[in-house]
Amino acid sequence: MSETSPKLRAELEGIPTYKPGRPAAAGGTVAYKLSSNENPYPPLPGVMETVTAAAASFNRYPDMFCTALMNELADRFGVPVTHLATGTGSVGVAQQLIQATSGPGDEVVYAWRSFEAYPIITQISGARSVQVPLTPGDVHDLDAMADAITDRTRLIFVCNPNNPTGTVVRRAELERFLDRVPGDVLVVLDEAYREFIRDPEVPDGVELYRERPNVCVLRTFSKAYGLAGLRVGFAIAHEPVAAALRKTAVPFGVTALAQEAAIASLRAEDELLGRVGSLVCERKRVIEGLRAQGWTVPETQANFVWLRLGERTVAFAAACDQAGVVVRPFPGEGVRVTIGETEGNDIFLKVAEAFR
Ligand code: PMP
Repeated sequence: MSETSPKLRAELEGIPTYKPGRPAAAGGTVAYKLSSNENPYPPLPGVMETVTAAAASFNRYPDMFCTALMNELADRFGVPVTHLATGTGSVGVAQQLIQATSGPGDEVVYAWRSFEAYPIITQISGARSVQVPLTPGDVHDLDAMADAITDRTRLIFVCNPNNPTGTVVRRAELERFLDRVPGDVLVVLDEAYREFIRDPEVPDGVELYRERPNVCVLRTFSKAYGLAGLRVGFAIAHEPVAAALRKTAVPFGVTALAQEAAIASLRAEDELLGRVGSLVCERKRVIEGLRAQGWTVPETQANFVWLRLGERTVAFAAACDQAGVVVRPFPGEGVRVTIGETEGNDIFLKVAEAFR
């Protein structure tokens, strides 16, 4: 049998890999999965019915252009349908954005630490990551990010709220930053957790997109809408960005089930946003619990909290495993813990207390 050539092998093996959130602990333990920022509520019965009905024709390809979903989104956000593009989760759309704009020799700027996918999808496209450290308070350092722009910069991600810290950038500082970005550099406002924001000073990215042709907003059905397993996200951007995203989409990448579920979820938005409201209350309870224990936790506006643990991170995650909750460790830095069911949150709080 012939061997793969060493050069090809090196190239293939050099492709970076994702580390997905760990699954719930196996072996019969009651485990609450607080490691992937998912929505703890089960699918709404009405959404489930729609998906079940759509499943009856999965021998057919889906609508490649997601026409009905795009029309629904255009109505919902008050944007032309030509300014929309859907994809396999917002991470799929982010990957297309880099693919469409950046290649070898180009630079992609983003804060670090931030969403784990940014370095991976940047490396896959052959572009170079320029990571700008968060401030000591775990917030985007927008001045330093603007300073990091060169004539090789093609794309900037601003993750608002930031994953994994939950911190936000507010209107005045974001506008000041956008004023400093050259018009030929695309700024992607990654708003995966938008619906969980309660701070009135955080601007809605869609409003910024309306004013600025180089701003693109990324949203997802995975978090507030509870469709993480179906994989559907979208971008709102001006032409020709949105058109480029439609051209670089994986053909038929958003399944018929995902399209139908997304439409049904938009129509059930009041109920879904009610659930988000309950999670926001639960977030307040968890944060206050941690602070009462003496922890310093950043002001999160997402559906997770960030606990800086430094060298104790791995031990903390192991203690959570033992207690029946799965959290996301970033070794040497801290843990990110999703706000989930009350029982799971309580177990996490107990572990945190034992670590003080
Ligand atoms: N952006 C951010 C900031 C995220 O945290 C995530 C999910 N963890 C995504 C995008 C991607 O989510 P999805 O692909 O499910 O839409």
